[in-house]
Amino acid sequence: MRLTVIGSGDAFCSGGALHSCNLLEHAGGKILLECGPGVLAGLKRHGIAPDAVDAVVVSHLHGDHFGGIPFLFLEYLFGKRRERPLTIVGPPTTGPRSCALYAALYRELQCFELPFRIDYVEMQHGSKLRTAGFDVESFLVPHNAEPFSLGYRLACPEGTMLFSGDSSWTEEFVTRSAGIDLFLCECCSLEPGPPMHTSYRELLAHRARLGCKRLLLTHLGEDVRRAEKSVFERAYDGLVVDIA
Ligand SMILES: [Zn+2]
Repeated sequence: MRLTVIGSGDAFCSGGALHSCNLLEHAGGKILLECGPGVLAGLKRHGIAPDAVDAVVVSHLHGDHFGGIPFLFLEYLFGKRRERPLTIVGPPTTGPRSCALYAALYRELQCFELPFRIDYVEMQHGSKLRTAGFDVESFLVPHNAEPFSLGYRLACPEGTMLFSGDSSWTEEFVTRSAGIDLFLCECCSLEPGPPMHTSYRELLAHRARLGCKRLLLTHLGEDVRRAEKSVFERAYDGLVVDIA
């Protein structure tokens, strides 16, 4: 099981990092975990073929997390033409929001013209799904997104991963991180700000309560990224982590 961080940036691309995007792969398939607008640049920069993706899983419907979906569609239409189905997983309305975004960006094209089938899967709190050989379970996290923001537990025979999505600190991180191989957690700032994101200070305070084997910070804001020292490992664009 391997994680490649394609985009480790926050909504402002702090430090020049790409918006949120990760490739999670194992022998049974490949998941794009978040699909920020820089998806194609990021994948191609690291020699990853966009058509290798079996499923896209997004945590919530903010532009830095799902804004790259229309560009994937373009690639599949005019680049290496995709014919096999694509699964897109996210909170309710992920399908219509993705189609509306695609239509807004390229008025001349419509979703129905795509040469492949899209299976949209709407996740509620606690939904379970098997896709690309991963068992995916969603949980509600506190973030100001419509209709809501999800965190995910992803498991395959090779390992387990917990993903925070965008979230302020929640006790879910404690209960769900127990025994997890890798916890990919967002961290937007050194100090707590408005209750939308998790800060370095809060993670430090709860560090001993997190039972994951490895903690990796992503969605990094300017100050966390630039801080000289960090107790926690920080993601960067292109980081490859072999899990378990
Ligand atoms: Zn974000």
